[in-house]
Amino acid sequence: MPDCIFCKIIEGELPSEKIYETEEVYCFLDANPLGKGHTLCIPKKHHQNVFEMDADLAAKLIKASKKVAQMQKDNLGADGVDFLQYNGRAGGQEVMHYHMHILPRFEEDSVDAWPETAYKKESLEATAKKLRSG
Ligand code: AMP
Ligand code: ZN
Repeated sequence: MPDCIFCKIIEGELPSEKIYETEEVYCFLDANPLGKGHTLCIPKKHHQNVFEMDADLAAKLIKASKKVAQMQKDNLGADGVDFLQYNGRAGGQEVMHYHMHILPRFEEDSVDAWPETAYKKESLEATAKKLRSG
């Protein structure tokens, strides 16, 4: 196994707040959220980026991302959701294990900047609990 923090999360060697999972995909809260409920969806097997995976797995990641987006809308009251996904260092990727960011957006926040609002006062655990409920 490569020395990879997301593989360690899958192996249970590092903690995470699980939101949703399937046989091949795991979704959990970003540890440094850009907004309340900011979630990452990753393949359980290590793939660096979209170039390294087959189209079938890429489709499964989109399917799981859509499911999380719906949970953010239904359970957190998100008015919109952004999908963000970087491939390669040139594209801004820092953790070299494929991950789709699913970012809930709220009408009261500016569309131009990530909000620095009260969401940071809530623990990841409390947010995850709300997000999973429904
Ligand atoms: P990037 O590769 O630029 O998309 O950034 C990696 C993302 O992973 C950042 O948003 C980090 O906050 C997030 N991240 C890094 N380590 C962890 C971790 N142990 N648990 C949850 N999220 C993490
Ligand atoms: Zn990995």
